[in-house]
Amino acid sequence: MSVTGIELSTYVDQLKRNGFTYSGKVGQGWLKFTGDLNARGTAYACEFLVPRTLDEIPLVTVKSLPRGLPKLLPHLTASGYLCYIAAGSIALDLFDPIGQTLACLQQAGEVLARVLADEMVEDLVDEFYSFWGEHDCLLDIQGNLLGAHPAYFTEDTDTFAFVVSDDKARTERKLQALGHRLKPQPIVTIRVRTSVRPFPLQKDWPPKDVGSLLRWQSAIDPSCRRRLEKKLMQRYQSGYEHATVIIDSPGLHYGFFVKFNRPVHRGGRRRDSRQVVYGLPVTELRCIRIDDKYIAERSMPDVAKTLSSLDVVLVGCGTIGGFLAEMLVKAGAGSLGGRLTLVDCDSLGPQNLGRHRLGMPHMFKNKAVQMAAELERLAPGVRIDKKQVDVKTIQLGKPDLLIDTTGAQSLTDWLMWRYAKSSPMLAAWVEGPGLAVRALMKHSPEHACSRCITQPPQSVAYQVFTEPTPTVLKGHGCEGLFVPFPATASIQAASLAMEMLQAWLEGRLEHTLQTRVLDNKRTLKTGDCTPTRQEGCLACHS
Ligand SMILES: [Zn+2]
Repeated sequence: MSVTGIELSTYVDQLKRNGFTYSGKVGQGWLKFTGDLNARGTAYACEFLVPRTLDEIPLVTVKSLPRGLPKLLPHLTASGYLCYIAAGSIALDLFDPIGQTLACLQQAGEVLARVLADEMVEDLVDEFYSFWGEHDCLLDIQGNLLGAHPAYFTEDTDTFAFVVSDDKARTERKLQALGHRLKPQPIVTIRVRTSVRPFPLQKDWPPKDVGSLLRWQSAIDPSCRRRLEKKLMQRYQSGYEHATVIIDSPGLHYGFFVKFNRPVHRGGRRRDSRQVVYGLPVTELRCIRIDDKYIAERSMPDVAKTLSSLDVVLVGCGTIGGFLAEMLVKAGAGSLGGRLTLVDCDSLGPQNLGRHRLGMPHMFKNKAVQMAAELERLAPGVRIDKKQVDVKTIQLGKPDLLIDTTGAQSLTDWLMWRYAKSSPMLAAWVEGPGLAVRALMKHSPEHACSRCITQPPQSVAYQVFTEPTPTVLKGHGCEGLFVPFPATASIQAASLAMEMLQAWLEGRLEHTLQTRVLDNKRTLKTGDCTPTRQEGCLACHS
């Protein structure tokens, strides 16, 4: 029976009516069917497997391929397995497995027809890594320099062969996080760039020696081939034992390794060194990027503006600041020559644990220091400064961005007064006992500061709700008073702040004051807007 209660006998009957015969069980819970795929009018014998739960698309193998096909075809393996739907590109309808299966088989027939008609040959570009090598190497290169780069073999792992790095100390921290160490002696790797995405040749694949690799490069980018050949020959003639090459192509890095076995000379004519190198076997390398630029940009749609290489200061590592600090690092803060500074003079106490990013191991210790340690553990490539002081007692200079998540109105006003003239500033806070979250950005003199919108005469106009936000306090005695709201409110305040920062980075921040209502029983008074500076404001006067 399927996961939605459809009898297998019904499924088998319906498939039979459509020309597919059940031919038995395979392995653990798979059913096999045979029949013909219709590829634009031509029938090709095929078999397909579906799980007995009928909750996966059928896996189709073509059993009767025409003779004389190229060695390499997109979407079709040598054994006839046909990849006709990209994983995750369809939403399965679990309530209609029969209709679903028939639609998949129809799609499979269409893809097969297009593959055989050579209409999908360009897809080989996207499938390049299915055809390239079995050995992995890690790339931790932040800069754009081409030419020689040091690389290091790793100890105690078979997962990847070695790591190419342009900063050994940073790469070592990352490897340590993975539980591995670098061998001390570097090997030199050559980095070249091409503007052509690699695609495999349909004949003579994969390249087994330097000669066939260079012939392949001639076919896709002759200038890259010339550079590769020149650098390989230079290294061979300089007496190196091997060469490792990394090729940067648009959206993809790939590489190879050659061991320079030199022929033993036994009199007679010496072999031309070029001929020797051409005959040397190559080992293909699949490159896995672990550089911070890639990590920060990978998840961003289209425009990739990140906080990398900026000087960012976050004041307040409490419940909002803790979650926001992590989001800032994920958006690149503290990487690529940038710096993230965390400021907080408080320690984490048991009363904070229920809504703080950190936990028990960090208790009774300074929040800024502990937050920095936690982030450096998760992202060993970033640089974080921590200051366990009252922010009013230090000079922060002119950061590229100053963020305030202290939630203390008077301190926010002071920071705006002190820094908003020289640095773009953003403050984020929770309204009352978790009723709404708000963030205000001031990146231009005409924008209102936090005091402009919370003091008369503008305070009523920019109130969140039609009713004033109530003041609710909990706590007593030595624990002190606090505003109760759950971690979900802090996370939403941090998310709102991060969204506004990203929009500001990309030059598309529409409103400098934004609000997200969490208590929908209340009536919103002031939606997203850009309040202007209040003449005579004591905090942002010019
Ligand atoms: Zn102001």
